[in-house]
Amino acid sequence: MYVCGITPYDATHLGHAATYLSFDLIHRYSLATGKSVSYIQNITDVDDPLLERAKRDDVPWEDLAESQISLFRDDMTALRVVPPHHYMGAVETIPWVTDAIAALEKSGAVYRVEDDLYFDISSDSHFNSYSNLSLEEKISIFAERGGDPKRFGKRHPLDCLIWRAHREGEPNWPSPYGPGRPGWHIECTAIALRFLSAPISIQGGGSDLHFPHHSMCAAQGRVLSGVDFARRFVHTGMIGLNGEKMSKSRGNLKFVSEMRNEGIDPMVLRIALLSGHYRADREWSDGLLSDSENRLNLWRVAFSSPYGGQVDELMMDISAAISDDLDTPKAFALIDEWSKNRIHALANSEPSDSVDAIGQLSRYLDGVLGIAL
Ligand code: ZN
Repeated sequence: MYVCGITPYDATHLGHAATYLSFDLIHRYSLATGKSVSYIQNITDVDDPLLERAKRDDVPWEDLAESQISLFRDDMTALRVVPPHHYMGAVETIPWVTDAIAALEKSGAVYRVEDDLYFDISSDSHFNSYSNLSLEEKISIFAERGGDPKRFGKRHPLDCLIWRAHREGEPNWPSPYGPGRPGWHIECTAIALRFLSAPISIQGGGSDLHFPHHSMCAAQGRVLSGVDFARRFVHTGMIGLNGEKMSKSRGNLKFVSEMRNEGIDPMVLRIALLSGHYRADREWSDGLLSDSENRLNLWRVAFSSPYGGQVDELMMDISAAISDDLDTPKAFALIDEWSKNRIHALANSEPSDSVDAIGQLSRYLDGVLGIAL
């Protein structure tokens, strides 16, 4: 599984967290069902947004990246995300990118505009099958997400930059193509194929990566490997705030680190972000936060005394819900129902048995859902 990681110019907001929690569930569930998982995530630690933010704040871009990566890892640890096997930065994988460019070049998929290198999308005959958007829509989204459809000299507006030649004041690395730095899409393609064989089981990320990012990776990966890049592309919904998408440009980001500093239990954030279905765009609100606090309290009370009954059926039902396209709303409703029944029984002073199933159930919830009670 390859999941597209952060560009470390800003702390982890709730949208990022929701995405990585969703893939954490896939990771955990796969491990719990006995599969071996190789999970790779990149960190785009050199890219335009990072360099622009560093310039604005007058800090070295490396320092900004390092501080934000550290914050991101702390946030993921607090949210109980099982780490991927490899977090690979763009800066440390530049030879992999130039190797991939060389292989693409051999296939005739690379051309030059001035000193920059572009990937020719027509080299992959499947390119139009990766998204249902019209050409006009694609061009518009491509421009919004860092693309340059109008650049003079390109063969097709959607051809994407894979090697950006050195510009004054920008970091650069030596390469057979002259000094420069990698484009974003080729970074993920090169890292994924270095660790995993095509077709990889899952390429994942937020739904805003579907086009152009994942389409470009799919096309480059197909030219490089001769087969599909990924069997499945999994996209998580966006988290909105007050009816708007949470985004840097709107200035309405809610940061995990700030909420942790305010004393909010990260377990409440995990429950809140997983209480909606991962594919759906969903809203963040104070109500969701307080409902999730109440939910965690309910579960903790129910799990606070020994229980001698059977929990196998509950665990099987939760597993069935998660295996059904990660139906966390259903899984959480099952835990709610069990907890309410348990608290009712405790209030009626039903005797506890000597055999305690609470530990078994706690370990299951911890392992499969990452919920620590
Ligand atoms: Zn990516």
